[in-house]
Amino acid sequence: MALQGKTAIITGSNSGIGLGMAWRLAREGADVVLNSYTDNEDDHALAAQIAKETGTAARYIQADLSNGAQARALVEQAGVCDILINNAGIQHVAPIDEFPVAKWDAIMAIMLSSVFHTTAAALPMMRASGWGRVINVASAHGLTASPFKSAYVAAKHGVVGMTKVVALETAQEPITANAICPGYVMTPLVESQIPDTMEKYSMDRETVIRDVMLQRQPSKEFATTDQLGGVATFLCSDDAAQITGTTLSVDGGWTAL
Ligand code: NAD
Repeated sequence: MALQGKTAIITGSNSGIGLGMAWRLAREGADVVLNSYTDNEDDHALAAQIAKETGTAARYIQADLSNGAQARALVEQAGVCDILINNAGIQHVAPIDEFPVAKWDAIMAIMLSSVFHTTAAALPMMRASGWGRVINVASAHGLTASPFKSAYVAAKHGVVGMTKVVALETAQEPITANAICPGYVMTPLVESQIPDTMEKYSMDRETVIRDVMLQRQPSKEFATTDQLGGVATFLCSDDAAQITGTTLSVDGGWTAL
């Protein structure tokens, strides 16, 4: 198994893309550390299920990544970090002049500042073990913009910039840093928006998906969380050892438009 002996910390991984990546990396043999800000039985049960089904040492560590000290503590509590996947994220949509300051601050803290904190805590561990991969889940919105998403677009562009800096600072070490930039990915969050949108526009499911949700995604197909886990697995491979400081779009052609 490709990732046996490696430990991966995946932030924001009790649902969606992070959880899909955790499953995929565990199936590839990695010991995964799941995380979110909650500390529910379900969170720990997810880790237990991954451990049971993959035979790896999956565990769950609670940390609220809007708090820099907790972001660092997540990595320190894990104790080892070969692969760091910065994935946690939230969204808020509003025009700039109406954008709530608290939402701006939360998005910046969870999606940009936490990447700084976890990376700062993880790099010494990667250096100590002589190998490391930093994988930041950015977005097509890390490369292009949409109206009403000022904080999200700014944070994701920031993550792409941060990725390049980490790559340059580790360029002569066996550590790489890259950003994956998904377009629309089928997650429970996206799935849950379909019924309301169908009602709002009086459209059937297929039309909502094609003409509303995937309007900017030329392939007219969602990426899957497992595909993103596959891309992360590739970035962890020896074949990807010279890929650093770049972005990998998984967006069905969105950013080619
Ligand atoms: P999601 O809501 O299913 O997952 C977000 C995760 O972040 C959850 O586990 C949540 O608990 C966690 N999280 C939120 N606030 C947190 C906090 N304060 N501390 C710790 N964890 C916190 O959404 P998703 O679609 O899986 O998104 C995951 C990442 O992928 C995000 O960074 C998002 O911006 C990015 N992304 C998603 C899509 C998409 O279409 N779904 C597209 C491009 C990029």
